[in-house]
This record gives sequence, C-alpha cells and structure tokens, in this order.
Amino acid sequence: MTASGAVWRNWARTEHVRPRRVERPSSAAAVQRAVVAAGQAGLRIKAVGSGHSFTGIAVAPDVLLDLHDLELGVDNYSVDNDRGADYSGADHGGGGAIRVDVELGRVTLAAGTPLHRLPALLRPHGLALENMGDIDRQTIAGATSTGTHGTGAGFGGLATQIVALTLVTGDGALLRVSEIENPDLLPAARLGLGALGIVVDVTIQCVPAFLLHAVDAAEPLDAVLESWLERSETLDHFEFYWFPHTGSALTKTNTRLPADGIRSPLSPVRRWLDDELLANGLYRATCGIGAALPALVPRFSRMAERLSGGRDYTDASPRVFVTNRTVRFREMEYALPLEAVPEALREVRALIEERGWRISFPIEVRSAAADDLWLSTASGRATGYVAVHRYFREDPTEYFRAVEAIMRSHDGRPHWGKLHQQDAASLRAVYPRFDDFLAVRDRLDPDHRFSNPYLERVLGP
Ligand SMILES: Cc1cc2nc3c(=O)[nH]c(=O)nc-3n(C[C@H](O)[C@H](O)[C@H](O)COP(=O)(O)OP(=O)(O)OC[C@H]3O[C@@H](n4cnc5c(N)ncnc54)[C@H](O)[C@@H]3O)c2cc1C
Repeated sequence: MTASGAVWRNWARTEHVRPRRVERPSSAAAVQRAVVAAGQAGLRIKAVGSGHSFTGIAVAPDVLLDLHDLELGVDNYSVDNDRGADYSGADHGGGGAIRVDVELGRVTLAAGTPLHRLPALLRPHGLALENMGDIDRQTIAGATSTGTHGTGAGFGGLATQIVALTLVTGDGALLRVSEIENPDLLPAARLGLGALGIVVDVTIQCVPAFLLHAVDAAEPLDAVLESWLERSETLDHFEFYWFPHTGSALTKTNTRLPADGIRSPLSPVRRWLDDELLANGLYRATCGIGAALPALVPRFSRMAERLSGGRDYTDASPRVFVTNRTVRFREMEYALPLEAVPEALREVRALIEERGWRISFPIEVRSAAADDLWLSTASGRATGYVAVHRYFREDPTEYFRAVEAIMRSHDGRPHWGKLHQQDAASLRAVYPRFDDFLAVRDRLDPDHRFSNPYLERVLGP
C-alpha cells in the first residue's frame, strides 16, 4: 500500500499524507518497540488498515504502522488448548494467522487480517461471521474501530462480535481486554476509533456457517417506506437502495438458512453481468457521463431502476453479503433511530427535488440492533442507516451538508469512517457515554500519541 517516503492515500482519494516513517511490524513486540520509539522521539503513531475510511481517521502524519504482516504471537495468549484451540499456522502470509476455539466458535485474528481472507480461514472450522458489510477489503481492526456494519435489525455491527482484544497502549504496554481481563474497558475498546492504542489481535465470536436466500426486487419507494419498520424488524437482513429521480427502490431481503440447505447460487455469467458489468462497468460510465452532463442523470437512474432487481438465489453467507465495488465514490452515512428513517428519507427526496441536483448514486438504507458500545452509532438504540454517495469526481459538499442537517434533526450520529462535519462538542450531545470514552483514552494514552487531526476534531485535542 505504501512505503517509506511515499504518499499514503485513502481509497476514496479524500485524504493523503506523507508520513515521516512507515513501519511494518510482524509481531506484537515489534509494535510495542515502535510505540515506545515514537514516544521517545515525540512523534505520533497510527495503525492504518486498508485505507477504506472516507474521513481522515486513518491519517498518520508521523509514524504509519502497516499491520498487514502482523502475525499472532502464541506466547502472548492464554487460550485453553484442552477446549480444542486449533493453530492454523499455515495461513501466515499477509498477517492472516488465525487461532480457533472450536467449541466456543471463537477465532483470534491478527489485527491486519483483511476480511476477504476470512471465508477461507473460517470454512474449515464450519464457522462464519454473524453479519458483514457491503465489501470485504477492510482489515478486521480497521473495520471494527470505525463501527463498520451490515444490515439486519437483529444483528449488531462487526465490533459487537468482538469478545476480546489485545492493545498496545501509549506507554508501549500490552493490554488484554476481555470478559475476564479488564472487562470494564470492553465497551470502549471494541470500537475505539484507533484512539486507545494499537490493536494487535481481536477475538471474534463466530456463528456456525450458514446460507443466505437472497431476493432482490424493484418496488415502489413509498410502499417500501411504509413497510420499513415492519420488514426491518421481522426479516433477517433487509435493506434497500433508492435511485434519486425514480419512484422505485431496489429491495434486498436475505434470509438465513442452515449450511446444509440447498445452494442455488447465481451462475458465474449472471454474477459477472450483475456485479461487474452493471454494478461497476456500466455504472462507472454512467457516473462519468453524469458528472460531465448532469442533465442526463435522471435518464440513467431510470435505466438503472429497470435493470436492477429480479434476483433470487441461495449461497454461502459471505458470497451474498459482500459485493465488489470498483467505482470510486464519496460517502456520508448517518445512524438514526430505526423508526425515523422513512420521514428522513422523504425529507431527503424533497430536498433533492427542491434543489434540482442531479444525483447519480443511489441512497442506501440499512439497519442494526441496539448495542452497548459507547461510541457505536447504534449505541443504546435500534438503528436505521441512511447513506448518501457522490461519484468521486463530483463535489459532494453542498449535497452532503444539506442531507446532514436533515439527519441531525433526527438525532443522527455519523459513521466514524464516512464524511461528516461534526466535532467533539456536537458528538458529545448524541453519545451519552462520550466522556467515559475520553476518560478511558486519557488512561490508556495520556499523551494522545495515537491521535491525528480528525481525532482531535471529533474527540477533542
Ligand atoms: C467501498 C466501501 C464500502 C464500504 N462499505 C461499508 C459498509 O458496508 N458498512 C460500513 O459500516 N462501512 C463501510 N465502509 C467503511 C469502512 O468499512 C470503514 O471506514 C473501515 O474503517 C475501513 O477499514 P480499513 O481497514 O480500511 O481501516 P482504515 O480506514 O485504514 O482505518 C480506520 C481506523 O481504524 C484504525 N485502525 C486500523 N487498524 C488498527 C489497529 N490495528 N489498531 C488500532 N487502530 C487501527 C485506524 O487508525 C483508523 O482510525 C465502506 C468503505 C468503502 C470505501
């Protein structure tokens, strides 16, 4: 991704930085040494994952730690082998070492493990992640640190699946956080924004592998909004995309089935047609033309509306949850009380009509269960997510700011990894445990060694 002296850029090309130093530690001890050395030199230090955050949360101006080579250090752990711990040491290249507690269904992963490696790592043990987001390019530590989530009002985001983790704190010490060791830190450390320390491993509670029966359909937007609450609450995984300038939404309904059910996957040709040609190839052309000739956007949106939907298939969960996104875009996503979503979306629709904007990207609407993580966007309330996007060659500022005002009027909380304008003062008002999180940060990183300009804005200096 980057080398010493090179410029680091995030996926969305909204952020770039030339760190003074880049390090690729391969052990927790090497991470500890790097943190101590940075402290002695008066430098800040930051782990980056896959750079898939749209905000500057991963920007590392001084020392950038790239953890893709990091491996699990067996010596640091106290797993009970009698319960069937299984060291899959063969899977090392790229930091993907995994240790599995078969009986409990828990896996310990090196922090830099990319999510796309998990299906192959978990399959031999008959396990899967309980829920996943749209893509799998992120690292496990990066995804959980920002509150990455999928959809399903009965399921929490990825960080809620963490049962233990190991951190290197500001003084270079290794700190184990679990239900047994320092359990008081779990609600902060499971979703720590990268502000509490360098995560070197995480232990995830997995579930038995399962299939998903996926039904994608085009439906009138108004009917979808009417039924939003009921469908979110009763279906396993419900979400929808609305293409502005059209009257319909593409609904996606995924139902969980046992792993030994009958698979009826999309044919490779259909998958390529839908996911590569339509979702990426044609879409890239559409966005490019739309950016140059905005007047054509509604026509393209209606075309996308006609081509979307009409799919019914059953496949292993990661193959249904995850899509391949190659069209670069900018995104803002807000978490609202679940029941506020229909009204907020009607307001966004009215806003787009009133301002006459031409928006080529669909608006994505999802849900998640309430959780107890202090800085989770779903903390303490059943949550609906509304995500707006713009092609990366278009300026998102005016659109995002106006939508943000609507979202904030519904008590919205911004995704930590996606664009927004809020700061510590306004965020404190929507997170009841905000100051508790800051107290943990002051305890684990009193010099704010892991901070950067984005964290200074959202957490304070
Ligand atoms: C195309 C695309 C699709 C997306 N889809 C979704 C989605 O479906 N749902 C969703 O919720 N979000 C989604 N996101 C947002 C994305 O999941 C988050 O921004 C996520 O944080 C990116 O993970 P990363 O590995 O790239 O982390 P980075 O962006 O590199 O880093 C994120 C944060 O994690 C910290 N961090 C990383 N590793 C460590 C470590 N070892 N120790 C301590 N801190 C660490 C970084 O310092 C930084 O603060 C999407 C983003 C893109 C670009």
